[in-house]
Amino acid sequence: MMKYFPIFLLFLAPVACTQSGKAQPEQPDQVEDSEALTGQAQDTSSLEEVAETVEQPEPVRPDFSIEYLTGKFEPAEHPDFVKVDKKYADGEGYYLHRATYESFQKMWEAAKADGITLTIVSATRNFNRQKQIWEAKWTGARKIENGSNAAEKYPDPKTRALKILEYSSMPGTSRHHWGTDIDLNDLDNYTFEHGQGKKVYDWLQKHAAEYGFCQPYTAKGSERPNGYNEEKWHWSFIPVAQQLTNLAASELKNEMIGGFKGAETAGEINVVEKYVLGINKSCL
Ligand SMILES: [Zn+2]
Repeated sequence: MMKYFPIFLLFLAPVACTQSGKAQPEQPDQVEDSEALTGQAQDTSSLEEVAETVEQPEPVRPDFSIEYLTGKFEPAEHPDFVKVDKKYADGEGYYLHRATYESFQKMWEAAKADGITLTIVSATRNFNRQKQIWEAKWTGARKIENGSNAAEKYPDPKTRALKILEYSSMPGTSRHHWGTDIDLNDLDNYTFEHGQGKKVYDWLQKHAAEYGFCQPYTAKGSERPNGYNEEKWHWSFIPVAQQLTNLAASELKNEMIGGFKGAETAGEINVVEKYVLGINKSCL
């Protein structure tokens, strides 16, 4: 086995800098690799042989960077993103990571067959979009969920940030940056606790996992002490999101969160550990 090791390193050095990820060995459970890379022909057969021989640990995708994690890209121009057909959404212009979208379509069909309508009401939001939302709440231009003008009611920056963080992410820290997370039907827990809305939520609890989806923001308590309040509408495609959560855990630091009003509170709040990683453990 040792004799392969230097050979493997020689091959790894050039490919680790590319965007394709084509050089990774086949991982049948990593659905996001399969379609996005179609057509990018490279002769990597010798590397694949060697890589399999040395039994690499789970490969880190070269196309998931801190830039990606923090939403600093344009989904409409990203090769792994696709536009959501309006039949699945409440409007046009939504984008998702291709793997998320493919699995969502299957879930949507299965739900429909059971009399359940799933409608995407928010999908990918990049850093700039999240910055607009955050700063509108920070300055009071947009009311926060309790109906208050946060700038007037919470002059202390940390208190104001924590109030906004009950439901909204700081730019750079949102799972909506990743193309893996969707909001369904209505941004109101009450909707999912009564009537047809409850049927929708019950269906998702029973079947979403079959399609790789998980609710990251469950009720707060001993199981999930930190992070955003419960969001019964927010679902995350774990086969892709799990890799980004892992990247956040190992690489994302509070000091990297900046470029918007109120960003100086990120370190004091410990936004990476408490919010980015403050998710339902079954979504890890
Ligand atoms: Zn959401």
